[in-house]
Amino acid sequence: MPLDLEVAARERGIRYFLVSYTDLFGTQRAKLVPAAAIAGTCRNGAGFAGFATWLDMSPADPDLVAVPDPDGLIALPWKPEVGWLPADLVMAGRPVAQGPRNLLKRLIAEAARDGLQMKTGVECEFFLITPDGTAPADTADRQVKPCYDQSALMRRYDVVSEISDAMLALGWNPYQTDHEDANGQFEMNWEYDDALVTADRHAFFKYMARSIAETHGLRATFMPKPFADLTGSGCHAHVSLWRGPENAFADRTDAVGLSQDGHHFIGGLIHSAEALAAITNPCVNSYKRLNAPRTASGATWAPNAVTYAGDNRTHMIRIPGGGRFEFRLADGAVNPYLLQAAILAAGLDGMRHRRDPGPRLDLDMYTHGHTVEGVKRLPLNLLDALRALEASPVLNEALGAFVPSYLKLKRQEWDAYCRHLTQWERDTTLDC
Ligand code: GLU
Ligand code: MG
Ligand code: MG
Repeated sequence: MPLDLEVAARERGIRYFLVSYTDLFGTQRAKLVPAAAIAGTCRNGAGFAGFATWLDMSPADPDLVAVPDPDGLIALPWKPEVGWLPADLVMAGRPVAQGPRNLLKRLIAEAARDGLQMKTGVECEFFLITPDGTAPADTADRQVKPCYDQSALMRRYDVVSEISDAMLALGWNPYQTDHEDANGQFEMNWEYDDALVTADRHAFFKYMARSIAETHGLRATFMPKPFADLTGSGCHAHVSLWRGPENAFADRTDAVGLSQDGHHFIGGLIHSAEALAAITNPCVNSYKRLNAPRTASGATWAPNAVTYAGDNRTHMIRIPGGGRFEFRLADGAVNPYLLQAAILAAGLDGMRHRRDPGPRLDLDMYTHGHTVEGVKRLPLNLLDALRALEASPVLNEALGAFVPSYLKLKRQEWDAYCRHLTQWERDTTLDC
């Protein structure tokens, strides 16, 4: 039985519901529905003009209807009289194939038919910056190696403890927060769960971090590389796959504790990596994190090549211990639903085709990467990634109608970027 939202509203003092969906570019769109009207909205959905959002629709299309999922209800910790509800998208009575949450649910249901459930944890990195977006807000945060800086972390105690308290109250089991490798950068971790639960929480986390930061006069950004000379913001995903109560990736007899299925799943991610990047690294700016030179702190901690290793952070995939791996490619701009969908699609393809991940490279890719032959490089820019996605039979087949819609909108974004004149061009070309 799904949760009865009228009852929940009475019991928890919820006056309004935010019926919210995430479009292809990761932007959350919502309607605010009074509690007295929520039963009707559950029956009929909330109407939107799809063309007004990033979903590849036309102005002449019929109403896009967002149908809330009562099980995803989260009362805003900083305004508990409002309940956030993730919604699925319907148009003319049919699920919208390119709707990110719809797409993830379809893939999850397909995996479930094979008795499989993906569980993930995501590691959200973000910067706390000045409201005008120009610099890290804490001017005292100036260390060259700022990672885990206790003083800089504690100067932001008010903000991060408020977010952490919210996660505790919501039952997400947050377990740590740290200062990351760039000045002004933080990471907050909560417990892993089913891929859809994690995707909903990830979407909500981004909204929550931004909202709570705002109440402290700050701005939280998940932009992949907001400052050229500082480490960027990744969004690592820790992935395991379950058959009922059993972790199908665990094998104690394996050197890194990963089963054949786990290795093949990684093989799938390696096989489709360049195409995956179009989804996991969705912006022009994403490629400034991936292909960045070493920062002042000594390392970018982001991958440059399509490789995997044991407990070694210089690779695209790290296997830190038994029964799971860490996918380090995605960045802060990733759409929470598409991240999970992309990993599941490419990984299951790897399992089905028993894709060989190749040799485990237990070396420092930053200093020795150039010495290994036959290693694929990650795309250098968004256009290369989009071309790889277009050419990927694996992702086109698994993700279906989502791919052409996504490619169309992202190509428009790339074209807009190409038409933009930068200061760098003026500086290097005016006098040529
Ligand atoms: N911020 C790094 C990245 O861009 C990751 C740092 C870490 O390993 O936590 O991926
Ligand atoms: Mg981190
Ligand atoms: Mg990590």
